[in-house]
Amino acid sequence: MKRRTFLQHSAALAAVPLVGLPSSARGLTGASVARGAVAPLRVNAERLNGWLAAFDKIGRTPTGINRVAYSPADLEGRAFTLGLIKDAGLVPRVDSAGNIYARLAGTDASLKPILIGSHVDSVTDGGNYDGPVGSFSAIEVARSLRDQQVRLRHPVDVVIWQNEEGGTIGSKLAINDLTDADLDKVARSGKTIREGIGLVGGDVAKLKDAVKKSGDFACYIELHIEQGGLLEKAGLQIGVVEGIVGLRWFEVTITGFANHAGATPMNQRHDAMLAAAKFTVAVNEAVTGEPGRQVATVGRVNVLPNTTNVIPAQVVLTVDLRDLDRAKLTHFTERFEQLGRDIGTATGTTFAFKRLVDSEPALANAQVMSWIESSATALGLTKQRMPSGAGHDAQEIARIAPMGMIFVPSVGGISHSPKEFTTAADVAHGADVLLNAVIAADLG
Ligand SMILES: [Zn+2]
Repeated sequence: MKRRTFLQHSAALAAVPLVGLPSSARGLTGASVARGAVAPLRVNAERLNGWLAAFDKIGRTPTGINRVAYSPADLEGRAFTLGLIKDAGLVPRVDSAGNIYARLAGTDASLKPILIGSHVDSVTDGGNYDGPVGSFSAIEVARSLRDQQVRLRHPVDVVIWQNEEGGTIGSKLAINDLTDADLDKVARSGKTIREGIGLVGGDVAKLKDAVKKSGDFACYIELHIEQGGLLEKAGLQIGVVEGIVGLRWFEVTITGFANHAGATPMNQRHDAMLAAAKFTVAVNEAVTGEPGRQVATVGRVNVLPNTTNVIPAQVVLTVDLRDLDRAKLTHFTERFEQLGRDIGTATGTTFAFKRLVDSEPALANAQVMSWIESSATALGLTKQRMPSGAGHDAQEIARIAPMGMIFVPSVGGISHSPKEFTTAADVAHGADVLLNAVIAADLG
């Protein structure tokens, strides 16, 4: 976005009295809404929740929603979504990566689009809200802007990213972050990503055409269910996401010595399992012993020889560490390594650390956060700033555009489960905030 031009436009529009607005005699502009000249707009909540209810039937099995990427149910879900876009009076376009885009034209052809959307694929045995809430709300926002004759200066692009649950594949393709080898990985549907792209209407030979550059979008705003229980517990309606946490995955190999469980005195052992247990507790105490929202989990443990009457010779375990602050990720990484050395010395074992995955935090843009926040305030909704512990397409798009995310409460903090649920009222709140954040973004 050319910031200077943008500001000049905003100032010019802001100075125009409501009756003299150029876009339409009857219509509104973003400026009049965002400046409080009229009440905040609202989406058609009944229509939006009706779409979600209808979508619940697609891929519904006795064990939950199964719309895993590239499966017949995923294709059916995408067809349903394309229908919603057409019903909204927009023309959908599937790009070579298989992502769906649809544009609501703006009045100023020199401005880059405001991008809004999410995904409609699911995990295995998942729920109906992770993805569809943000996707359908984006379509509803575009439709509401048309219905209510609000003409924005920026185009609004609705996007439905393909295969989010398989590792934010569609959004990674959009920022050119997948290798040829990645395309050969097999997705949960049993198809490779390469095959999947063809199945959803893309073209692997032309993937470069789907790549977006820094500056291609004015900003990206994604509405999503929280997938945790912080909002519900605090009794709040809206989460203003500060960013998506980065993570470090380690594999820790603890080596001791296998020996007879009956004949070896307690003070002559090199027990890898005992060291692993002490380390697991120490990791927990380290992350809870300092202020902040950092989390760490020892999640996988393999013991050798894993036999009742033998002192364990080796344990291989994993640590998953997450936080929004890169410096903290480094700090706790060093802390865990030190704990390993200390526990190794105390138990007569050795600790070897191997880094499995590094993913950097993706920070939300301060300006986009303030648009989301002011929209929630104007709508009379309660809110708080918070990190996202789960990954989203927004973390990829943050690399090429100012990014922001809106969270709505997940009942019971449950997600990736058939019990996943967000109330119709909260879905409507989230969509209303998205609508008004888009209007605020248009004004700048
Ligand atoms: Zn999701």
